[in-house]
Amino acid sequence: MGQLIQAAETAGHYSLEPGSSPEPGHSDTAETTQENRRAAPGTPPAAPLMPLKALAQVHQRYILAEHPTGMWLVEQHIAHERVLYEQLCDRWQLVPLEPPVILNHLLPVQVEQLQRIGLLVEPFGDRLWAVRLAPEPLAQRSDCADALVELSWGGSLEAALVATACRTAIRNGTPMSLEAMQDLLNQWQQTRNPRTCPHGRPIYLPLEESSLSRFFRRHWVIGKSHGI
Ligand SMILES: [Zn+2]
Repeated sequence: MGQLIQAAETAGHYSLEPGSSPEPGHSDTAETTQENRRAAPGTPPAAPLMPLKALAQVHQRYILAEHPTGMWLVEQHIAHERVLYEQLCDRWQLVPLEPPVILNHLLPVQVEQLQRIGLLVEPFGDRLWAVRLAPEPLAQRSDCADALVELSWGGSLEAALVATACRTAIRNGTPMSLEAMQDLLNQWQQTRNPRTCPHGRPIYLPLEESSLSRFFRRHWVIGKSHGI
C-alpha cells in the first residue's frame, strides 16, 4: 500500500489523491476491476439514468420512484451505500481521533490490516491498542470502536471502503421525507455505477410500463371498457 504511505498530508488530514483506485484483490474481484476502470482518473461520469421522481416510501425500506416509462423500487440503504462508497473511493480521508480509541485483544493480523488502510495504531499497555486516526465518516460516530474492529477484520482497503459505506449509509427501517428521498435519488443517479451496490447486489427493481402492460394483459381488453 505504497499509495497510502505516500498520501499527502494536508492540515493534519491524510487522504489519497482523488481518483486513486482502491486496492484490488478482495473476494469480489470482478466488481473491483470494473470499479477501478470506472474510477480511473479522467473518466467522465456516466450520464444520469433518467429523471426519477420520489413518490413514496414503502415499508421504510423502498423508495417508489416514477420515471417517464415506468416506476422503480429503489432500496434506500444500498442506494445510499453506492453514493457513499464512490465518495470514499474518490477521497479516503483519515482524521485524528482525540482522545484515541482504545481497542483490546487485537491480533497481529488485525493491527496489520488497520495499518494497511492507513490508520495509526500504537501499543497502549497490556494487550491494549490506541487508534489515533480514523476514516472521517467514522470518527464522530458513537460506534467508532465497533467500526474499527470491523475494519480490522477486512482484508484490503477496498473492504474497508465497503464496510465504511455500509455502516454510514441510511439504514432500512428509517423514515425518509419526500425531499430526502429525492435528494438520495439525485445523488445516486450521478454515481458511476448506479446499478449495483459495491457487493454486486441490484439497487433497484424496474417496473417498466411495457412489462406492466403485459402483466395486466391490457391487449386482451382493447376495445372494451376496462379503464383503458
Ligand atoms: Zn450495507
